[in-house]
Amino acid sequence: MNDIRFDGKVAVITGAGRGLGRDYALFLGSRGASVVVNDLGGDPDGSGSSQAPAQEVAYEIKAARGKAVANYNSVAEPEEAAKIIDCARENFGGLDILINNAGILRDKTFLKMDLTDFEMLVKVHLMGAVYVTKAAFPLMRERNYGRIILATSSAGLWGNFGQTNYSAAKMGLVGFMNSLKLEGPKYNILINTVAPLAASRLGEGIFPAEVMQKFMKPELVTALVAYLCSEFCTTSGDIITAGLGFFAKSQLMEGEGIRFDPDRIVTPEMVRENFAKISEMTVTRHFENTSDAFLNIVKPLMPEEKS
Ligand code: NAD
Repeated sequence: MNDIRFDGKVAVITGAGRGLGRDYALFLGSRGASVVVNDLGGDPDGSGSSQAPAQEVAYEIKAARGKAVANYNSVAEPEEAAKIIDCARENFGGLDILINNAGILRDKTFLKMDLTDFEMLVKVHLMGAVYVTKAAFPLMRERNYGRIILATSSAGLWGNFGQTNYSAAKMGLVGFMNSLKLEGPKYNILINTVAPLAASRLGEGIFPAEVMQKFMKPELVTALVAYLCSEFCTTSGDIITAGLGFFAKSQLMEGEGIRFDPDRIVTPEMVRENFAKISEMTVTRHFENTSDAFLNIVKPLMPEEKS
């Protein structure tokens, strides 16, 4: 089989000056993509800015005979986010791949957290991806081709102490994908979400230093992201965990549940008595969209199903 390559493709990678984004940018650049290396260059909590990280990565790609341009706009403001996509159009004539990767952390227990720290996380992670994708979508539609990647986290998927702001923003991205995946196929635009695990400055103090150094190599995540944003990828709406050599899909699942007669009153006591059965997850199913989920509830009530 041929190598996965990105010749002739234009990629925007947000937060590509450091960590995972840097690795995605270098890899896509080495495989032929023209890369917009976006990074605000701030501190892990989102304060400050510097052009150096994006500049250095763009330089590294070009030094290896790749094509790249640095961009320093913030994803967290709609006008600035639009400029990131303008940069792709002005320098490379369009857009095929968008990796929404930029991120910050402001961890605190919910009681101690200022609302500004909550809002900022939602602004960078969730709204940042929304703003950049909003500007990117029409360009992808023009080309009848698009691969969009979102970055969620195990903190959003499963929860993590002291990260209510981060978890809410990261799971918000999954909701965004779940509906956008239904609008993309008409234009051959696919959207998938990665839940990465890799050594970076955001993981310092969260993961043991020895584990980070030995096992949490960014390239183990990059392999998945590169596949998902290649033309070989045909799935849309997947959430895939990648890190330390482990790759696995995650899905929301609904249990079998129980059904009371909707013509009769259901009391809280009936819920109490049946709560174990309501919570039972032995038999589960996943729905591709809300219509399928609704149909699962309503179908047994239809006359033809009852008879
Ligand atoms: P990182 O701090 O090394 O990289 C994030 C980059 O985003 C930084 O270079 C930063 O300057 C940039 N950035 C921040 N705010 C920005 C803004 N408003 N506009 C443009 N750029 C901005 O962190 P990382 O670990 O490489 O994280 C990359 C993504 O992966 C993040 O979304 C993070 O939440 C997610 N993630 C990482 C891990 C992990 O194990 N590293 C785990 C789960 C999720």
